[in-house]
Amino acid sequence: MTNDPTTSGDRSAPNNPSGSDDPGAPTIPSEMNILGDRLLPVPHPEHEPYWSALRAGELRIQRCTACDSLRHAPQPMCLKCRATDHEWALMSGRGEVYSYVVTHQPTNPAFRDKTPFATVLIQLEEGPRLVSNLIDVAPDHIEIGLPVEVVFHPVTDDITLPLFRRAVS
Ligand SMILES: [Zn+2]
Repeated sequence: MTNDPTTSGDRSAPNNPSGSDDPGAPTIPSEMNILGDRLLPVPHPEHEPYWSALRAGELRIQRCTACDSLRHAPQPMCLKCRATDHEWALMSGRGEVYSYVVTHQPTNPAFRDKTPFATVLIQLEEGPRLVSNLIDVAPDHIEIGLPVEVVFHPVTDDITLPLFRRAVS
């Protein structure tokens, strides 16, 4: 029997990634949203200076005004001296690949057509590290220590992502 409806049918649950009716359907974390083909962050109001700087084409990182320590991701308190006063220091945008991981199996429908892709940990030349992607280096050509520089990728009116490319120097 080649066309038995009991074995070929009824697996067509509606595509409802945020729903829970189908226990086999992938779910999207509540802190994320999908727009287009990217998962986008939902910024915390206290982090707005970080995002507004990105929209203006600047990469700014929190710096404690008591001990000058840079910290990322943004925190309400200095991790070294516990002071709460801070400023948003302008970074050069230059750095290097500190580490990376290549994903081959999409764990979220947003990445269904994106694999393989590399998630890269960038160490800025000023010291902080941030998670990003490289726009011009294939996953199998990424190397630890690769010099990179930031590029600003507007996705929506509110969200500009800091991505990186091979440094031009
Ligand atoms: Zn401090």
